[in-house]
This record gives sequence, C-alpha cells and structure tokens, in this order.
Amino acid sequence: MEYLSSFVARFIQHSPLQERITAVLQTLPVEVVQDLLRDPRFTMAAYDPADGSHTHFHIPLPGRGDAGSRMIAWKISLAHAPLDFANYVIAHEFAHAYLRNRGRTHDEDPEDAADALAAAWGYDKPRSAMRYTWWRRS
Ligand SMILES: [Zn+2]
Repeated sequence: MEYLSSFVARFIQHSPLQERITAVLQTLPVEVVQDLLRDPRFTMAAYDPADGSHTHFHIPLPGRGDAGSRMIAWKISLAHAPLDFANYVIAHEFAHAYLRNRGRTHDEDPEDAADALAAAWGYDKPRSAMRYTWWRRS
C-alpha cells in the first residue's frame, strides 16, 4: 500500500525506521489505520535520546483536553532493535494512539490495553522485551 509509506514518510525521514513502521501499519485493521490517518492531530516524530541537540522535542501530555495525545515519538534506535521487539513496540505505540492513551474500559491500565491490542493484531510481547523495560513510559 503505497499511500501508507507516503504517510509515514511525511513524519519520519529515517528510512530504516520508516520501513519498519510502515510494515507494521500495513498489517493493522483497516478501521485502525483509517482512524489514525484521518485525524489531523495524529502525528509522529523520530528522536534520538542520545543526541543532545534534540532535547527540545515536545511531547503533548495525554489526558489534557478531550481526546488525549495522538502523537507517537519513536526512538530512532527502533530501526536497529531486534525485529520482533521493534514490531511489538511499534504495534504497542499504535495501540496507545488508537486508544488515545486510555484503557479499553474505565478501569483498565493503558499499558495492559496497549499490550492486549497489539497481541490481538499479532504482535505479542516478545521475551526480549523483558530486557527493554526502559522503553516503557511508565
Ligand atoms: Zn505503553
């Protein structure tokens, strides 16, 4: 699907990362993809935590206003992480965006919800993710 790679390329210039994100996006349910693509407030950006020159990166806080954050900030190192781990992280972040950083029910933990949705899309949390708990936001 050519339009998905163009969509990702609008936000992400780093091509190995762009390819990984596009590959996962192409496998998500069509209603999820459309929900994200049709929302003008949905944005993505890549950042390198090791690069001190990009410390002014701004991430909108979720939970303020009505719909929550719909920005995904990708660590550039995802481009070179083990593929099963990278795919899981990418699906997990798309799940957060789709769920607007909330659980699927009032009581559900947003992290559990994102993991469950990613798993439903075919991206189970890999064992290697246990070594990468620093990736988690909270
Ligand atoms: Zn998460």
